[in-house]
Amino acid sequence: GIPKLNDSALLRNQAYVNGAWIDAASTFDVRNPADGATIASVPNMGKAETQGAIDAANKAFPDWSARTGKERAAVLRAWFDLILAHADDLAAIMTAEQGKPLIEAKGEVQYGASFIEWFAEEAKRVNGDVLSSPWADRRMLALKQPIGVCASITPWNFPLAMITRKVAPAIAAGCTIVIKPAEQTPLSALALAELAHRAGMPPGVINVVTADGSRSIEVGEALCASTIVRHLSFTGSTPVGRILMQQCAPTVKKLSLELGGHAPFIVFEDADLDAAVKGAVQTKYRNAGQVCIATNRFYVHEAVYDAFVSRLAANSAKIKVGNGFEQGVSIGPLIDQQAVAKVEEHIADAVARGAKVESGGKKHALGGQFYEPTVLSQITGEMKIMREETFGPVAAVMKFSTEEEVIAAANNTEYGLASYFYSRDIGRIWRVAEKLEYGMVGVNTGAISNEVAPFGGVKQSGLGREGSKYGIDEYLEMKYVCLGGI
Ligand code: ADP
Repeated sequence: GIPKLNDSALLRNQAYVNGAWIDAASTFDVRNPADGATIASVPNMGKAETQGAIDAANKAFPDWSARTGKERAAVLRAWFDLILAHADDLAAIMTAEQGKPLIEAKGEVQYGASFIEWFAEEAKRVNGDVLSSPWADRRMLALKQPIGVCASITPWNFPLAMITRKVAPAIAAGCTIVIKPAEQTPLSALALAELAHRAGMPPGVINVVTADGSRSIEVGEALCASTIVRHLSFTGSTPVGRILMQQCAPTVKKLSLELGGHAPFIVFEDADLDAAVKGAVQTKYRNAGQVCIATNRFYVHEAVYDAFVSRLAANSAKIKVGNGFEQGVSIGPLIDQQAVAKVEEHIADAVARGAKVESGGKKHALGGQFYEPTVLSQITGEMKIMREETFGPVAAVMKFSTEEEVIAAANNTEYGLASYFYSRDIGRIWRVAEKLEYGMVGVNTGAISNEVAPFGGVKQSGLGREGSKYGIDEYLEMKYVCLGGI
């Protein structure tokens, strides 16, 4: 289940629409992936409730968008302060519904809150331009205005940060929003709504509609079909991203998409091997590998291959797997049985094609959805694990010989989210960073994400950027004003 909270009012079992807590005709259960225990039941909403939330957001838009950036910043800042004040409770709710170790959940609360702080500041800096006119009798302006009512559909792997990263820039810009959190993790979203309410967020500015897996499809359809909703932001899988894009075509909505990744992690022969192993562990096992920027493919130069594999395997074998609430645990359960099945499928496919298990390789003795951190060597390019996102704690390590060959292999995918490489050669660093077809490149580090960085992918990993000074542009329209009669 869930431990006792300091502030039990943060654990909500109703949805939040138009500043009020509401029910639906039926509910669905939210379960703890570590033990299967039901934590709460929340409303299972559909088309009608979604329409209600859109209408609430639409009604709130004129007032919210007319406020100054400074006024909106004050509300965002109050929300940020409340999140930090309740960080421990938010982390406990997250670990209970998602499974990640409590220490990671606490990190996500800080990370998620940082977007609210950042966009509270950015709210004051939405500036247009005065352009130099080629016509002597007219003046030209570019204004930036909020796009309107927005919708966001978010995943379960970062139940809090994937919401704040979308909602904060939207409401900073003057938009209002309807959020549909993942069916596995609605409680973090509802706790955030409770704190937004306490922070003085006006009714209708933020709305949270909860739905189970199948009704999420209906909610998604209603959000996409709405002519009121002008923008959809989504973080999740590439197949679902494609569906939403298609569904948004009839109303020509603006889209921000953070989709799948298949991050390569390259270790060149001149790398600092200690740093590379540390980065490998970080990028592979954080959140049990259920991260869109998690490493999915390791490419290690033949001169350091054996040393890297044995050190990574030794490190992996030491990692403690268990309930996220337990001290010292670094890997929690996978989100569901399907996730476990995919990990098993990728390992079985690799082993059938000649891979060697260096450590782990099977379900953890704890049973349930716990899986051992696994290192595989003697990997070849045609194995599934080198072609598809695994989303689990499996490190597949392939050998390479030349820089050219490894860049081609790294880019040989439809994905283009994050990539990592280790080298001490400044010429190579510049060359490789430019050639990798990825939205983000970590050089000699596995920790790249924060509120200042433009987070996003190229190719079929998505559209647009979240966070950073660029992130608010997703929620703004530019209006050209030509002023004559001067
Ligand atoms: P994951 O594989 O990480 O679960 P998904 O892309 O399936 O990622 O889910 C991410 C979010 O998208 C969740 O909130 C889920 O409910 C929602 N979702 C999944 N399928 C659809 C769909 N067809 N229409 C709208 N939302 C969907």
